[in-house]
Amino acid sequence: MSDSLQRFLHKRLETVREAGLWRRLRTLDGPQKPEQIIDGQRVVAFCSNDYLGLAADPAVSAAAREALDAYATGAGAAHLINGHTRAHAELEQALARFTGRERALVFSTGYMANLALVQTLVGRHDTVFEDRWNHASLIDAVRLSGARSQRYRHADPEHLRQRLERAPANGHRLIVTDGVFSMDGDIAPLPQLAALAREFDAWLMVDDAHGFTVLGETGGGSCQHFGLDAGDVPILMGTLGKGFGTAGAFVAGSEALIETLIQTARPYIYTTAMPAALAAATLASVRIAEAAGDRRDHLRALIRRLGAGLDALGLPHPPPDTPIQPVILGDAARATAIAERLRQAGFLVPAIRPPTVPEGQARLRITLSAVHSEAQVNALLNALERALHASPGG
Ligand SMILES: *Cc1c(COP(=O)(O)O)cnc(C)c1O
Repeated sequence: MSDSLQRFLHKRLETVREAGLWRRLRTLDGPQKPEQIIDGQRVVAFCSNDYLGLAADPAVSAAAREALDAYATGAGAAHLINGHTRAHAELEQALARFTGRERALVFSTGYMANLALVQTLVGRHDTVFEDRWNHASLIDAVRLSGARSQRYRHADPEHLRQRLERAPANGHRLIVTDGVFSMDGDIAPLPQLAALAREFDAWLMVDDAHGFTVLGETGGGSCQHFGLDAGDVPILMGTLGKGFGTAGAFVAGSEALIETLIQTARPYIYTTAMPAALAAATLASVRIAEAAGDRRDHLRALIRRLGAGLDALGLPHPPPDTPIQPVILGDAARATAIAERLRQAGFLVPAIRPPTVPEGQARLRITLSAVHSEAQVNALLNALERALHASPGG
């Protein structure tokens, strides 16, 4: 390898290490379930986004296996060439119905769906209004679009109003928000955002990666939670790798929105379709998620149990509305130490540190799943209590 390249890479790595931001891959053996073996250690994991427990659901796996027999493995080409199978078409119809939108379009990842959407909707002369804590893929999508970016304070419609009032008059306006914030677990104030969008003729786009399957009567996400429809939220995006338990993403909206993506979105056109077996597995998981009232009830009970336990430990946490329940500890070193003690006790809970979250807001990000048991949540709370007391400065 060239010397200058080696020097460059070593220097980059040194910077990361010195900043205390080194990240380490852990290797999982076996399926994504709460009880798992990671780096050879048996743990109970409280960090996956598999909120309904569909990632290892036998019915979803069976659908994948059956589709593997029918379609084999590779997609072979992009959707617009010959990679678009009947399994993809059926999944898109199911997602349109699930979201109550005219049409849906499947993408290989949520990151790409966001790049595609934002680039399709805005360019250099337009303005995007973004919640300051939006997901990294949304922030990158806005950067790549070349549009002007106006960040408003987290979940603060009043600040958004000020931004809208002062925005340049030319160009289109796009408001972009997570439906459920991935690091904070709170729900965006969508009714207020929708009202502002209407008032200022802005387009509202919601990335509901963490809302779908969890919120709403049939898992329809944050829009269903608030009773908002396509008139309120015309641009809706979701991922398939979280509550749906598989992988990929989708956009749901009007016929014209979807057709425009198909015709013009480079991250849609120039990428290979997801394998058909994955689409078929996801179709099974959409059907299960829609009817999974019992799983959502159990999940809600676990969230309440965890919340009560955190209250008893004097730890602040968001309202028990979503399965993302971060425990803010402040100091990055303390968060890391407590996560490490939990790991030694057999619980996998990641410490999330800056720059993923703002300075001074390092946290444990606990996520719950409908396949956790109440006993596992109680055991986590006990271990957390011990870890807090064992930690210097705790
Ligand atoms: C995970 C996530 C994405 C990215 O989706 P992938 O399918 O994992 O690429 C986008 N937005 C939000 C809010 C997410 O949490």
